[in-house]
Amino acid sequence: MYDKAAKLFEIPEPALPFADSFLNDEERRFLGAADGRDYSIEELHSLLKKLKITGDPDAFIREAYSRGVLDKAENGGTIFYRPANFYRRLAFFAQYEPELWAKIPAEERKKIDEWYVEQYMEKAKPRLEAALMGEGLIENAFFYTLEETLALIDSLGFEPYVVPCNCKSVAMNCDRPRGVCILFNRGINSEWDRGHGRPLTKEEAKKIIILADRNGLMHTSEEMAAICNCCGDCCYPIRASRRIGAQGVWPKRRYRILWNEKKCVGCGKCAKICNFRAFRRVGKRVIFEERDCWGCTVCKSHCPVGAISIEKI
Ligand code: SF4
Ligand code: SF4
Ligand code: SF4
Repeated sequence: MYDKAAKLFEIPEPALPFADSFLNDEERRFLGAADGRDYSIEELHSLLKKLKITGDPDAFIREAYSRGVLDKAENGGTIFYRPANFYRRLAFFAQYEPELWAKIPAEERKKIDEWYVEQYMEKAKPRLEAALMGEGLIENAFFYTLEETLALIDSLGFEPYVVPCNCKSVAMNCDRPRGVCILFNRGINSEWDRGHGRPLTKEEAKKIIILADRNGLMHTSEEMAAICNCCGDCCYPIRASRRIGAQGVWPKRRYRILWNEKKCVGCGKCAKICNFRAFRRVGKRVIFEERDCWGCTVCKSHCPVGAISIEKI
């Protein structure tokens, strides 16, 4: 039954030794007996009863949905549930049970992270291709300047909410602020519908964005589902983009950096903040390598003497 649960839930090889951390006993028993189809609430109740999973069945369903063990599916106005998979569960696990995720030895976590970034990349490729053909927008489609991001918040016709950044929670490659993932989507399978997230006023959302900017996090959005504040070390979209070779395309670069070397006093703040080492220190000098620049624009507000400006492409 345990093997069947691991197979149905698509637990990858590097995560198998830690399956007990990701799934509790009742979830494993449920996944061991379920199949990949959609279940009505009544069917789930009867399966849980058959498995002698005691307690309130609705509480089990709510909790498993919140933990990313179950997903919802809508059919003809009725909500069904289906087993999710490890890929889905991992992000929720790292976001909401960070102490358990941190307990897994770092080198084993790295292997799971490597699996995750590869999965992310493969899943993103068709979305990126479609976006390049003008069919819809991929997540993190564009880089936005700080000012544009604040204006985007002002233009929202609804209340955003914030969740812990799932990339930084899973990858743990930096210690920059994690409570910076601002979401809009409240539909089925959204974090909100699963019971996560803290509603934000526009002023609170703007404070988060400014804090993110001060910490060198890059603002990305596709304007419909989220405003992300990303780093180059953890962000799966950016890491996937790097592997695909989509620098400049995803997230789309909209500004060119103009560096006034004569004004530069060599303080190195831009080199410290740049996620791609486009500005970097070489000995005592600071240099700018345009081909390494992704056009995030975050360096501009960090230069104390205004030696960095931007030009729309
Ligand atoms: S895309 Fe950016 S803000 Fe969103 S979860 Fe990833 S790193 Fe965090
Ligand atoms: S140099 Fe380019 S990549 Fe680096 S912070 Fe500035 S805009 Fe971003
Ligand atoms: S932050 Fe400005 S002054 Fe400091 S090294 Fe960079 S470009 Fe020069």
